[in-house]
Amino acid sequence: MEKRSIYADNAATTQVSEEVLNAMLPYFRTGYGNASSIYKLGRDAQLAVETAREKVAAALGAAPAEIFFTSCGSEADNWALKGTVETMAKKGKKHIVTSVFEHHAILHTAQYLEKHGIEVTYVPVSNKGLVSPEDVKNAIREDTALVSIMFANNEIGTIQPIEEIAAVCHEKGVLFHTDAVQAVGHIDIDVKKMGIDMLSLSGHKIHAQKGIGALYVRKGIVLPNLIHGGAQERNKRAGTENVPAIVGLGVAIEAATKNIAEKNVSITAKRNRLIDGILQIPYTRLNGDRDKRLPGNLNISIEGIEGESLLLMLDMYGICASSGSACTSGSLDPSHVLLSIGLKHEIAHGSLRLSIEDNISDDDVEYIISVLPEIVAKLRAMSPVWEKMMKGESYE
Ligand code: PLP
Repeated sequence: MEKRSIYADNAATTQVSEEVLNAMLPYFRTGYGNASSIYKLGRDAQLAVETAREKVAAALGAAPAEIFFTSCGSEADNWALKGTVETMAKKGKKHIVTSVFEHHAILHTAQYLEKHGIEVTYVPVSNKGLVSPEDVKNAIREDTALVSIMFANNEIGTIQPIEEIAAVCHEKGVLFHTDAVQAVGHIDIDVKKMGIDMLSLSGHKIHAQKGIGALYVRKGIVLPNLIHGGAQERNKRAGTENVPAIVGLGVAIEAATKNIAEKNVSITAKRNRLIDGILQIPYTRLNGDRDKRLPGNLNISIEGIEGESLLLMLDMYGICASSGSACTSGSLDPSHVLLSIGLKHEIAHGSLRLSIEDNISDDDVEYIISVLPEIVAKLRAMSPVWEKMMKGESYE
């Protein structure tokens, strides 16, 4: 069989698009001015930064003054949580609410805050991978400073009821932040309509370069400075702007948020074909709600195999994919996301995440469906867990 090259790991990162690269290039050589400089070269760089800010704001239904550029999505998450806590703790609000299956940029920040006297409630998720607004409501206390619930999960792609959660927070007078790193550019987002107070996003998930992100902060919310120094980002985040990266983010978000609904028709059809095809393999299950999920995400547990071996084997067949198991985190623990939806350790270890975009051909979709059964059969033939399962013995 001919070797292919299929990239099905867009939730991990994306290729910088030609459009983005072309927009960035002038700012490395001819337009290299410091955006704080007063002469034309500097003013042009400043204009490019502000144009990008307008594009990011427009994509979210926000005002440009509500957008702060950061170095990545993780930084935006850290700033939202630590910044809010720093301000609110002075008012006696020392409690935050988040969910058990957030990205580590949120979870590890929450754990850090716990070490510094902040109480954190981690709301559970259902076995379909959804957070209940009712659970969020019940977790909010008199001293709650912030609720942070991700827009879409990075492993299983489930889309949370963000508007309802925001409404619950506002009913109780609590600020609401969402980590929308996986959602921006894939589903329509309007921060005003949805009642979002703060939102994190990242460029490299939407065909901009790695190392650029942004935090939307609703007008009226004052976060403490993230980096002290110069007056960049309205005095909040010092450091000479990364003009090419910011320009790239502006172009990327504009392109990603154009005609989302139209693009999603074809992506969803390909994703559903993959789900149906892969679920033909015995002892497999789809993780996360089938409909309330990102159009390009599928996450399937395949019993009796190790995710890591599966990924290596897929690589040999020319397919780049991801798994919720050990290799992604560098630890031996299975994914906290898969455990949070009730999967047993052994099953969580053997999961496959494919995150596709519209550029995957129907032929490549069929190729994945056709090679997976033989890959799984090979791995199961070598698996002691599978052998025990087939004999009906306990393998925990
Ligand atoms: N939040 C979510 C949901 C993510 O998927 C990621 C990246 O995978 C991040 C935050 C971190 O973004 P960045 O890589 O830009 O720091």
